[in-house]
Amino acid sequence: MHELSIATSIIEIAEEFAIKNKGANIIKIEIEVGELSGIVVDSLEFALELAIEKTVLERAKIIITTIKGMARCKQCGNEYVNSDWYTACPQCASMDFDITGGKELQIKSIFIE
Ligand SMILES: [Zn+2]
Repeated sequence: MHELSIATSIIEIAEEFAIKNKGANIIKIEIEVGELSGIVVDSLEFALELAIEKTVLERAKIIITTIKGMARCKQCGNEYVNSDWYTACPQCASMDFDITGGKELQIKSIFIE
C-alpha cells in the first residue's frame, strides 16, 4: 500500500525532528495533502493509525489538510480549481492548462512540548 510507505516516511521525519530537539515530545503534527497528489487521505489516516504505534507520534494529534488542485489556463490565463486533472477551463472551455497546485504532500508543522 502506497499510503503505508508515506506514513512510514512521515514518522521517520518526526523521529528525526524529535531527536534534533533533544527528544522533545511531539504533541501535534500537521500534514498537507494535495488533491492531485494521488494520495487517498482516508487511507493515509488509516496507515498512520497503524504505523504510529510505539513511535514518537503515538500520542500526537495528527491533522491532515487537503489542498485544492489548481490549474492555470494557457489560453486565457484564468486560474481555477481542478480537482481531477481533467477539468476544462470554466472561462473558455480549454483543456490546455498547467497544474499550479494540489500535487504537494508535506509536513506543514510539528508542535512539541
Ligand atoms: Zn481559459
